[in-house]
Parts: sequence; structure tokens; C-alpha cells
Amino acid sequence: MKILFATAECAPFFKTGGLGDVAGALPQALAAEGHEVAVILPYLTKIPSEFQAAMEDLFYDFIQVGWRRQYVGIKKLVRQGVTYYFVDNEDYFGQRELYGYYDDGERWAFFCQAVVQLLERFDFLPEVIHVNDFHTAMIPFLLKEKWHWVQAYQKIKTLLTIHNIEFQGAMDPQVLPELFGVGMERYTDGTLRMGDAVNFLKAGILYADAVNTVSPTYAEEIQTPAFGWGLDGVLRSVSGKLSGILNGIDYQVYNPADDPYLTDHFSVDDLTGKARLKAQLQKSFGLPQDAQVPLIGIVSRLTEQKGFRLMLSMMDELLGADVQVVLLGTGMPEIENGFRYYEGRYPSKFKADIAFNLRRAQEIYAGCDLFLMPSAFEPCGLSQMIAMHYGTLPIVHEVGGLKDTVEPYSPITKRGAGFSFKDFNPEGLRYAYQQAVNLCWQDHETILKMQKQAMTTDFSWEKKATEYLTLYQSLFA
Ligand code: ADP
Repeated sequence: MKILFATAECAPFFKTGGLGDVAGALPQALAAEGHEVAVILPYLTKIPSEFQAAMEDLFYDFIQVGWRRQYVGIKKLVRQGVTYYFVDNEDYFGQRELYGYYDDGERWAFFCQAVVQLLERFDFLPEVIHVNDFHTAMIPFLLKEKWHWVQAYQKIKTLLTIHNIEFQGAMDPQVLPELFGVGMERYTDGTLRMGDAVNFLKAGILYADAVNTVSPTYAEEIQTPAFGWGLDGVLRSVSGKLSGILNGIDYQVYNPADDPYLTDHFSVDDLTGKARLKAQLQKSFGLPQDAQVPLIGIVSRLTEQKGFRLMLSMMDELLGADVQVVLLGTGMPEIENGFRYYEGRYPSKFKADIAFNLRRAQEIYAGCDLFLMPSAFEPCGLSQMIAMHYGTLPIVHEVGGLKDTVEPYSPITKRGAGFSFKDFNPEGLRYAYQQAVNLCWQDHETILKMQKQAMTTDFSWEKKATEYLTLYQSLFA
């Protein structure tokens, strides 16, 4: 099949989270199966220079963004069987981070229109356009409402993947005439409207031929008011075209046997390297080097979503146990400062590195015994899968993708690949946390068995790519 993947971020060029990882891995996995796959994404000046140097300038043109005539340059790079098209416009994407600007609506309006309008000029006309999150969610709308008269586009099917429904792209309704150059009909008749805004994600949900989320449980959860962020009713109305496919992790990037970020390596048959990495990690964080004490890691954005308010509310209790905890993350200042406070209070037990650091992330995944991820909601989550692949047993809230990926420890069968709790409150977290810490101290044999189960669970993209392919094909049935 011929598939065009439209995305705001994509590893290894630039990423801020899970979307970037998926955009990096899924197209490559599909290409490896022999499909023709291209990815279209913005050209940011912070793309590493080796990639910039390898790009070819394909063509440039001007498009209308409402009344503005804007430059679009298209750069091309072929990497591991996938063609990447970069959309260049200095004003919108140059010298910037990806998100968080007053003109985000305009930037993505520009991007979506550049994709659709210039599609005919690429040497690649796709059968399926796979759009992701609100940034590219207006593409199905544009195909059906603005450029429906282009014959070459009429056969194209679209899939929208929702990676996180919290971010919806709610914009001033005037964007329709001002930026998209269309009338207000679809706002006034309610189609694109949520509250008093045009909602990009809602447009994608209603106009895409199919919608999926990144785990089966999350696909169910977002149809309820508790998880739908206001779009649950819209999602219930399209439940027939809504499904869930779990993300995978890229085994070429995440492999304890040859991870370039690590100074020592290990495998499921020989975990001695993991023990040495634990000692190194303790040393690098300035913690006592103790092989026995359960070492718990956290690598995360520090936001409400990730459950850190709950965790902060019981830090004295969590650190009262005989454990060490290391945290790596950045995010909301209150949460960062909360953790800084507890670092000061428990200097020999708790260390918080408030930073984004890919090397240190790998050192934590590899060197810890346990990985704490008490998310309030979690569309899929990659961190728990990476942790398991490195033999680090996750402690998770049974929600979304965490529920679908972590088989919880059963005291009866002594099987499992992690620990989980149902109720998102201190009693819930306490239950799973104590279970994990006690087992580390008391039953090393079971922990070892669980580590092996975790490390051999198949989280590879190959399997997931096949599921996506079946979904693409179903659009033509
Ligand atoms: P989300 O996309 O919601 O942030 P995921 O678990 O799906 O959460 O993906 C997070 C990804 O970002 C993982 O690869 C994780 O290792 C990485 N990550 C998060 N915070 C940091 C950090 N401070 N330093 C390095 N990597 C990080």
C-alpha cells in the first residue's frame, strides 16, 4: 500500500513525547513489510545537522493561508526505506520549539493546507493519509470540504490516530474564513464546533474514514465523560469506526544488549550487567551503592496526567519504606518544585533530576528494579514498555495502555510483569507499591521470573504494523 503519515513530530528528527516515537517507528515497520511509506512533518531548524545536510530541496511554492500568501519549501530525505517530506516556512517553524505559541492555530492551519494543496506535486500520491492528533486532524476535513473537487484526491482514505485526547486544538471560529479560506457553515451547523471554538480534533474524528487510539482500553475510556475531555459524546456517535491499537517500542533503539547510551549491557539470559548498571546509577545520583535496596525509577513529563499530584501527596509514606527513588523529568513548576523539596528532605533516598536527558533516561530504565508510573490517564504509554524490556518491573495505575500492557503480579500464580492498582487514590497506590517493594525484599526468585517474563513480552512494532495494515485495508472494503 501507499501510505502518507502526517505528523507534528517524529524521532529521530525531533520529539517531545510518545507521538514522536510512534511517528519514528510505525512508518519504518510498514516500509520493512514492503509498503511505500512517506512521512510529512514540519522543518524545524533544530533538526540535527547531519539530517539537514542529507536533505534535498524538492521544490518551493506559495499557498494562501486566508488572505496571506505564504512560502512553502519542501525538503526530502530518504531514510531506512521511508521518504520524509519536510515542510519549510521560516515564520511558522524556524527557530522555534514545536508547541506553545499564540499562533499555533495558524501554524497548523498552514501545515494542513500545505500538505493537501501540494500533494499532487509530490512524486507520491497515497492511498491512505494517516493523520495524528489535532495538529494534522484538519486534513480529512480539507480533503472532503475544500479540495473534494480534485479527482486525484477522491479515492484517498484517511485514518486519524488520537494519541492524547487532552489536546484538541480549540481555535477561534474565525480561523475558518481567515486561515482555511472556507465558509462558516460547518461551524454554525455544529459540525466543527465545541463550545465557542472550532475544534480541530473533532473535525478529524468526524471527517476521517476511521479513528483509532493507541490502546484498546483507551478507545473505550474516551467514550466516557471521565476520560473524553468533552468529546465523549462525539466519540460514542462514531463508535463503529473507532478502535484501539497498542503502540510498540522500537527494538532497534531500545535494546539492553547494545544500547549505545549504556556503558554495560545485559540480556534475559545474563542479568549481571543490570546489577552493575544499578551500582553505576546509584553512584551517578549520589545514592549509597547498595545492591539489595529496591531502586525505583521515574522518567516522565511532570504533569497532572502522570499522577504526580497523588504521588506528592504521599511522599513521606512512599519514602518511609526501605527504598531508593530516582526521578528524571520536566514539566509543571509546582510538581518540579514539589520533588525538589522532597529531595532536600530525603537526600540519601530520593534524587530528582529536573531535566530532559535521553542518556539518563536509558540509565534509569536499565539500572532500576522497579519503575513507577501512576498515571491518572494514559493513552498507551511507552515508558512502562521500555522499562519492562529492560527487566525493570513497572508499578502502574490500571488505566488505558497501562492496563493493556502490564500483566499484574498474581500472588497465587506468582506470575506477572509488573504491579498495578485499580483505584486512583492513596490506598490504591500504596497497595501496589508495598506489594512491589516487599516482593523485592522477600522473594528474589519470583522477581527474577517476573523480570524474564517482562523482558520476553513482545512489544515490537512488527506486530503492531500488521494491525495497522489490516485497518488501512478495511477502509477499502
Ligand atoms: P508521553 O508521550 O505521554 O509523554 P510516553 O510514555 O508515551 O509518555 O512517552 C514518553 C517518552 O518520552 C518515553 O520515551 C520517555 O523515555 C521519554 N521521556 C519523558 N521524559 C523524559 C526526560 N525527562 N528525559 C528523557 N526522556 C524522557
